[in-house]
Amino acid sequence: MRKLRPHRPSSPVEYVNAFCEARGSAIHGQGIFASRRMRKGMRVLEYIGERVDKEESNRRGLELFEKSKESGGASVYIFDVNEDWDLDGDKPYNLARLINHSCEPNCEMVDEDNRLFLYALRDIEKGEELSFDYGYDIEHYLDHPCRCGTPGCVGYIVSSAQRPKLLRMLRRKKHGRSLVKGNKE
Ligand SMILES: [Zn+2]
Repeated sequence: MRKLRPHRPSSPVEYVNAFCEARGSAIHGQGIFASRRMRKGMRVLEYIGERVDKEESNRRGLELFEKSKESGGASVYIFDVNEDWDLDGDKPYNLARLINHSCEPNCEMVDEDNRLFLYALRDIEKGEELSFDYGYDIEHYLDHPCRCGTPGCVGYIVSSAQRPKLLRMLRRKKHGRSLVKGNKE
């Protein structure tokens, strides 16, 4: 199997620590927070890691999944970049791996010439937690509960495009089980 060369920017620190810092998050584990005010459209941080093809990426994903079943605590930081390759961001120097998902994110991840950069979707105040839409597929939504706490949160980490579909599914499920108003699962 062909292993692609590890991808790192010429100066990793350039985007790593300039605008943000890691600390405990109310959403999940550790999060990344703005250490200064940021303007809408600003490039905040690069998601850096090892570039791997889809086959190697699937192998690593399954390995981590098995590990997590044993220990209950492994996280997968493999980023689906495009049809050909993924980025394994499970590296200490990749601060962006700690950014949490939000159903109403303040940032977005953009693929630029096969590198991933985080951009601010709006002005961000110093101290705000950074987030982006993980864009997970609806298929395994039960494995990815969301605790982002935003008014638009659907309770699971699912791409914004599939959220209306998930809401319809959840509504149907709820009505199937109980007609009591406000009953939460
Ligand atoms: Zn949410």
